[in-house]
Amino acid sequence: MPQRCQFRVSVTKDDLVFSSAHFITYAGHRCEGLHGHNYRVRVTIDGALDPADRLVFDFLELKRIMRGLCREIDHLVLLPAGSARIAVVEDGDTVRVAVDGTPRYLFPRRDCALLPVPNTTVEMLAELLAGRLRTALEALGVGGLTAIEMEIEENFGQSATYRMEL
Ligand SMILES: [Zn+2]
Repeated sequence: MPQRCQFRVSVTKDDLVFSSAHFITYAGHRCEGLHGHNYRVRVTIDGALDPADRLVFDFLELKRIMRGLCREIDHLVLLPAGSARIAVVEDGDTVRVAVDGTPRYLFPRRDCALLPVPNTTVEMLAELLAGRLRTALEALGVGGLTAIEMEIEENFGQSATYRMEL
């Protein structure tokens, strides 16, 4: 009987980082002030070996995609476009942000990343980047992968991991 083999490749490099500002809301009326993190990314891909090159997926290509995804949100204020409590409104060259109906920030539009998440927690960032990686892999026609795992660390020893079965 043929064996079903799974392999796993994992990348975490010094350049898979993004330094961004954010604030999150908590249940009740708690809301953080604006602050920043040097986020680090680790990505893991599960899949079958490609019989031709004996790879799950090319590390170089994976790093290239992940560097691009990090660059998209690096040095920006991460704002949740899907929050029930944080209203994010684009107004010409500026972005107005209100929390629970009270105006709080005005940012230059170019300094913001409006993300389709309900809260910019590290969990939501991990899910978002996993989805964006999946889209990039599909665009490349990559097959044979069974799972993507995205770990985002916002502080040393403090991270969240999102696993997406494919
Ligand atoms: Zn934070």
